[in-house]
Formats: sequence, C-alpha cells, structure tokens
Amino acid sequence: MKTILITGSTSGIGLGIAKEFAKTKQYNIIFNGLETNGAEIAAAVGKEFGVDVMFSNANMLNPEELRNMVNEGISKFGKIDVLINNAGIQHVSPIEDFPDEKWNAIIGINLTSAFYLSKAVWKGMKEHKFGRIINIASAHGLVASEFKSAYIASKHGIVGLTKTLALEGAPFNITCNAICPGYVKTPLVEKQIADQAKAHNISESEVASKVMLVKQAVKEFVSVETLGQMALLLAAESSSTITGTALPIDGGWNAQ
Ligand code: NAD
Repeated sequence: MKTILITGSTSGIGLGIAKEFAKTKQYNIIFNGLETNGAEIAAAVGKEFGVDVMFSNANMLNPEELRNMVNEGISKFGKIDVLINNAGIQHVSPIEDFPDEKWNAIIGINLTSAFYLSKAVWKGMKEHKFGRIINIASAHGLVASEFKSAYIASKHGIVGLTKTLALEGAPFNITCNAICPGYVKTPLVEKQIADQAKAHNISESEVASKVMLVKQAVKEFVSVETLGQMALLLAAESSSTITGTALPIDGGWNAQ
C-alpha cells in the first residue's frame, strides 16, 4: 500500500484525482482543503472505495501547518510516497488594479506551498528510495493570457521548481513532473464563467465557446478523470524515467 497526499483535494481537480487513486485501492489518501465539510468529503471517498483516508485543513499560507500535516500523515501511514501539489486560487485583473494582497496570496498558495511541502516530504522519499511529486500547473504554466499576472507567474514558477526537483531527485528515484491542464469545469472556473459573462455582456453558456475554449483546438473542458489517469501514470513505479516534464493536457492549446 502506498500513501498519497493531495493538496486542495476536497474540491474540483484534486478531488477528481483522489477518486482515481482511490479506485485502484492501492493508496491511502491524505486529503486537504479549506472546505468546511472536508473531513466528511474525505470520509465519503474512503467509504465508497474502501481505502484509508486522513483529512487536514492545513492552510497553504502557513508553513508550520504544512509541516504538521506531513508529520501527521507519516505518523498515521508510515511514509508519504506521492505528493500532488494541487491547491490553487485565481484572480483576474489588469496589472494596474491588481491588489497587492492577491498577488501575495496567489504566489503563496500556488507556488510557495509546493516548495514547503516538497521540502517536508523529501527526506522520507530519499530514505525509501521512492518518491513521486506531481505539480498541477496549468496551460498558463507554459503560455500567458492577459489579466492573470500573478497566476501566470505562479504557474511558470512551479514549472521551474518541477525541473529543479527532477534534477535533485534523480539519484534517489524521486521524480517530479507538472501537469498543465487547459480549462476544467470546477468551482474555480465556474466563478470565472460568471465574471466573464458580466465583463463581456454575454450569457454564461456563450462564455465557454466564445471566451474560454477559444485557445483550445478541442472545444471541450478537460475532465478530472483524464487528469487523474495522467497522475496515476506519473505515480507508478514504472515511471522512473518520466521526470522534469511539463505535460500539457489542454485540448491542443499549446500546439499553437
Ligand atoms: P477548486 O477551487 O475547485 O479547488 C481548489 C482547492 O484548493 C480547494 O480544495 C481549496 O479549498 C484549496 N485551497 C485554496 N486555497 C487554499 C489554502 N490557502 N490552503 C489550503 N487549501 C486551499 O479549483 P480547481 O479548479 O480544482 O484547481 C485546482 C488546481 O488546478 C489549481 O492549482 C488550479 O490553478 C489548477 N488548474 C485549474 C484549471 C481549471 O480550469 N479549473 C486549469 C488549469 C489548472
């Protein structure tokens, strides 16, 4: 049995990925997120798939809480084999109005937390000669769009962190990869759909085709199951030579 820690896994992509791992029945799962019913969400997945779970509401902005979450996970399950840095937030605004506190929160949650958590699991992964770190970046880790300065800086940053950890982890069978999704219909994106509809004065259903999916060749939202399947592949024992990559799963957005 292996143990996986997935940040931001009581919603959206993180929850979808957790379910794909749960289905295999080969992983204990450490859930994390700020949803107030997070413990119930984690318990429900554990019950549905018959796997052991833990829940922590550690805040990505608090390094002490992150270290405690890792230590609690190791106390409960013995080790952490796979870390998925997934928690993230967005804020859309032109640079001149971009609130300073939003910049700091986005860099802290989307990027710096991955540094703290990778550092916290590193020693154990090294000792066990096995580790898989997967960062949920974004198509915006590879290309930019306007009005998302902090988000795009954070996602380009995490692609850089991914490459560095891949090099440092190589002697110890620790791999590190980034998954770069296009648009996925989660609460994070539902909020943007409403905002964009207002900004462009069009209906919410038009936002998908006229605004969001314009850059994707495949005019479909990416599914959380697809992302979960990719994460499972990256986490496998047999994937030791897949490292340092930033894999777009973006309907061809980055092909252009
Ligand atoms: P979501 O809003 O559904 O989930 C985000 C999760 O992060 C939630 O569980 C939330 O509680 C948690 N979180 C936020 N701030 C936190 C904090 N300070 N401490 C602890 N947990 C915190 O969003 P999502 O769409 O599932 O996004 C997950 C990741 O995928 C993010 O990193 C996002 O940037 C990335 N992503 C999303 C899309 C998309 O289209 N939805 C596309 C590319 C990348």
